[in-house]
Amino acid sequence: MSNRESDLLATVPDGLFIGGQWRPATEGKTLAVRDPATGDVVRQVADASPADGAAALDAAVAAFPAWAATPARERAELLRRAFDLLQARKEDVALLMTLEMGKPLTEARGEVAYGGEFLRWFSEEAAHVQGRYGANPEGTGRMIVSQHPVGPCFLITPWNFPLAMATRKIAPALAAGCTVVIKPAELTPLTTLYFVRLLEEAGLPAGVVNVITTSTSGAVSEPIIRDPRLRKLSFTGSTPVGKKLLEQAAGNVLRTSMELGGNAPFVVFDDADLDKAVDGAMAAKFRNIGQACTAANRFLVHRPVAEEFARRVTERVRALKIGRGTEDGVAIGPLIDQRAVDKATTLVGDAVERGAVLLAGGSAIEGEGTFYEPTVLSDVAAGSSILHEEIFGPVLAIVPFDDEDEAVRLANDTEFGLVSYVFTENLARGQRMIERLETGMMGLNMGVVSNAAAPFGGWKLSGLGREGGDEGIHEYLQTKYTLTPDPFG
Ligand code: NAP
Repeated sequence: MSNRESDLLATVPDGLFIGGQWRPATEGKTLAVRDPATGDVVRQVADASPADGAAALDAAVAAFPAWAATPARERAELLRRAFDLLQARKEDVALLMTLEMGKPLTEARGEVAYGGEFLRWFSEEAAHVQGRYGANPEGTGRMIVSQHPVGPCFLITPWNFPLAMATRKIAPALAAGCTVVIKPAELTPLTTLYFVRLLEEAGLPAGVVNVITTSTSGAVSEPIIRDPRLRKLSFTGSTPVGKKLLEQAAGNVLRTSMELGGNAPFVVFDDADLDKAVDGAMAAKFRNIGQACTAANRFLVHRPVAEEFARRVTERVRALKIGRGTEDGVAIGPLIDQRAVDKATTLVGDAVERGAVLLAGGSAIEGEGTFYEPTVLSDVAAGSSILHEEIFGPVLAIVPFDDEDEAVRLANDTEFGLVSYVFTENLARGQRMIERLETGMMGLNMGVVSNAAAPFGGWKLSGLGREGGDEGIHEYLQTKYTLTPDPFG
């Protein structure tokens, strides 16, 4: 590890942040954070118990009335200062993400830009929450519709986008006047801890944001979710965990936002611009080493161009540099852990056994760290597990199709519905695909769709609710309708 890396790691707080104080876990336990490129422990942080979780919720509950009553403009200015501080520290935050999660540094910088935009966007949205006033249709009264912060929130984030998943929840919650407890993933707590220190510098009042890091997420989270003082749960992670949390949330009829798994189809028609389609494929598949909920999982390619598309992506994939994310020019860092490597190995093995042709990669890489080769498979047979499970790794699986109806049928043949990608130069066909594909988001001749100003979220088992856009702040607001008499009556 370089001096720059160890100096930076030493600046990351290692405690829980509760009621404006950094403190150790009550039982004094810590958990180890590892660099997946080397397997080395890079930092120990506090390992919260259920008692710490309860204290964090107490703090969020205590801080809620004052924060909800804080003028929207002041809340906005806090978020804007945090945005500015993040820009000033972007190199530190990017390096920290690479160290704890493995993504290439250039992509980590991209995540700082994307994650920061939620702070700027919701600082702008905070002062634009409006109600309405008008006569009822009978003319006998006046109807007032107003918006109110929903209350203390619990935010649970995954390891794959350590900064952006935190800002995408914290920013709209604070803009709306809510206080929060946030629990990052055990594998990547450092970015959230560092970011909350920035919020503190920006002037965050005590108790408005509380952070708990833990190796026992289920035991710590469940009592928080079941506590009647909690009013909102926002979760990003896998569909099985999301379903479990929805059951826990049902007891108190909690407001919930669920950003869950995906199985994105990437459809290339024979009228597509293949250069654009190949560029889009590389971004949609290999960004974040394939570990994105928006990662293209199934490449459905019109038969007349399937071979040429496969040839071109294979050439590009063979040129990808593999290594530690801090090295120059690296495009493929390590997968997050051995489980992820084993999953890629199993899915590729199953596809090949069922007749898929291996055009590039196909193996785990021996040695330190948890690396898997960027891989291309063509002619993947129906029934292969890789077409139904989220790969979450750098494996590009191609399935040929014969006509538009078949493309639609294959694309929609999944319980997930987060995002789809379509490449065609035929406008009417593009419009038909917008209407026919069952996903909450679509990239039409684009391989990346995420944007703070857009409503991010899925259909079907990919989730409930939206993050970002005009919709994002409404996830943290509740509506009140008031009837008053006709003032002239
Ligand atoms: P995960 O295992 O579901 O974990 C997500 C978060 O939930 C982590 O903080 C995890 O903490 C926590 N968690 C796990 N079990 C829990 C429980 N019983 N109670 C409370 N919290 C619990 O998912 P992951 O493997 O980290 O992330 C990958 C998944 O996230 C993929 O399916 C991906 O598609 C999805 N994702 C979706 C979006 C979206 O916007 N739709 C964005 C990014 C990722 P610990 O890890 O510490 O246990």
